[in-house]
Amino acid sequence: MEVNLMEILKNEGVKKQFLFFETIQETSMEFYGEMINITKPVKVEGYAINYEGKIRFDMNIQTEIERTCSRCLAAFKGKIDFYADYVFVKSLENQAEDAYLFKGDSISLNEIVIDEIASQMTMKPLCEPDCKGLCPKCGNNKNIDECGCILDEIDPRLEILNSFFEKK
Ligand SMILES: [Zn+2]
Ligand SMILES: [Zn+2]
Repeated sequence: MEVNLMEILKNEGVKKQFLFFETIQETSMEFYGEMINITKPVKVEGYAINYEGKIRFDMNIQTEIERTCSRCLAAFKGKIDFYADYVFVKSLENQAEDAYLFKGDSISLNEIVIDEIASQMTMKPLCEPDCKGLCPKCGNNKNIDECGCILDEIDPRLEILNSFFEKK
């Protein structure tokens, strides 16, 4: 995902459109111990513009990822679709805003796109908002079927109440 900036570096205000649809090399990443897989090619669409000598990027990033449900441990797929913008400069001197450095006549977006996808991850993902999780007794995935286990662990607060009534 290399954007050639030759034409726009010479002329302020010139815009360059780009569209990439690529399978990225590193298709899995670790996020707090969870392995996340990128299961579709990444689509990156946007433009670069020379604005007061800085190169401004505006783009939309889309792909599909596979995560592990934090409750039932099943793999599930989720869509990634968001907008991002960046400023690239040749020198960081006198830069008020957050900017990335670049050299030469082109900018490679690969690393930025992977970092951006990673920044979209949430902690404790769920396959469904109401995922029922695993049975603490037998480990059955309760979303698939009911195991019929009777959970007889008593809440310690209730146990105090029980002994209270027994004494009477
Ligand atoms: Zn789940
Ligand atoms: Zn069970």
